[in-house]
Amino acid sequence: MATSAKTLPHFARVAHPHPRDAAARAAILANPGFGTQFSDHMVQIDYAEGQGWHNPRVLPYGPIALDPAAAVLHYAQEIFEGLKAYRLDDGGIALFRPHANAARFNASAARLAMPALDEDLFVEAVRQQVLADRDWFPTVEGGSLYLRPFMFASEAFLGVRPSRAYTFLVIASPAGNYFKSGAPAVSLWVSDYTRAAPGGTGAAKCGGNYAASLVPTAEAFARGHDQVLFLDAAEHRWIEELGGMNLFFVMADGSIVTPPLSGTILPGITRDSLIALAREEGLTVREERYALDQWRDDATSGRLTETFACGTAAVVTPVGRVTQGSSEFVIGSGGPGQVTQKLRQRLVGIQRGQAPDPHDWVHRIV
Ligand SMILES: *Cc1c(COP(=O)(O)O)cnc(C)c1O
Repeated sequence: MATSAKTLPHFARVAHPHPRDAAARAAILANPGFGTQFSDHMVQIDYAEGQGWHNPRVLPYGPIALDPAAAVLHYAQEIFEGLKAYRLDDGGIALFRPHANAARFNASAARLAMPALDEDLFVEAVRQQVLADRDWFPTVEGGSLYLRPFMFASEAFLGVRPSRAYTFLVIASPAGNYFKSGAPAVSLWVSDYTRAAPGGTGAAKCGGNYAASLVPTAEAFARGHDQVLFLDAAEHRWIEELGGMNLFFVMADGSIVTPPLSGTILPGITRDSLIALAREEGLTVREERYALDQWRDDATSGRLTETFACGTAAVVTPVGRVTQGSSEFVIGSGGPGQVTQKLRQRLVGIQRGQAPDPHDWVHRIV
């Protein structure tokens, strides 16, 4: 690992005056669910124009005071990241590719006219959060500590221009296996809504993208589907991604197709990792546009055998069936395919420190 001459700031530490006791914590950690329970601490760093980032600290987890005129509440200047910390078999703790999250965070910041945060400081903030709450790892199989770094505009003003003050926070949520027993195949609803248009914010991880995906997702749920699939804005023909996951298509000839990073899809770190792993498995990966009609034809003819979605939370999720309007098609047997399972196992093995890590993706912090 590269050693940096840069010294990172000291994080002040305000311990929680009454952290939850061992019994309360154990009850949560035995049944954590996803995204509903939070650990005892949070990390905060403030930004002011002219002063830059300052006052890094570890605080008790809790509500934050916001001026009602804070810009984020009016114009949605907000970005976030999502990554997991894993407990290793030897008792250590590791993050998965945190510098990739830091780099993407700054790419999102640039698109939303927000200040960059030094990548090493971002990773250090995440590390401080995990160290403060290292007793908050789930005790269930497949558990992890999900970390949510985010930044929002905190200046009080109603003019439309970039804020001059920002708040960066990291919170942590113990997470169980996203799916109880392995990953069941999901059913997709092809939305008439658009998630992102060329030149828009589709490649940035900003809260506004998710706000805009809630109605399409609710529509998919109302029709009995698990996830929403978005097509491109211009022709409504090319497959882009799900509300929060990238897609891969596995062909019978052993090749894999995934939509290219055209600016309208989110550059997933899971996506990037799986492309590398698939190539190592000897599979040809093509980053190229794939049309919904072609997908249906290929699934029907057997030219395509598997489809899976991927992202940090659920890692790899097989796609079983797809519905557009009143027409539906099934992928392969409708269940998880072999290539999907193989790639999932390879990635999870590396993330948990149980398999060799030739790419140096695992970032040990303890
Ligand atoms: C976060 C996200 C993903 C997945 O990214 P990972 O880095 O793999 O977690 C995919 N699509 C959208 C829209 C996202 O917000």
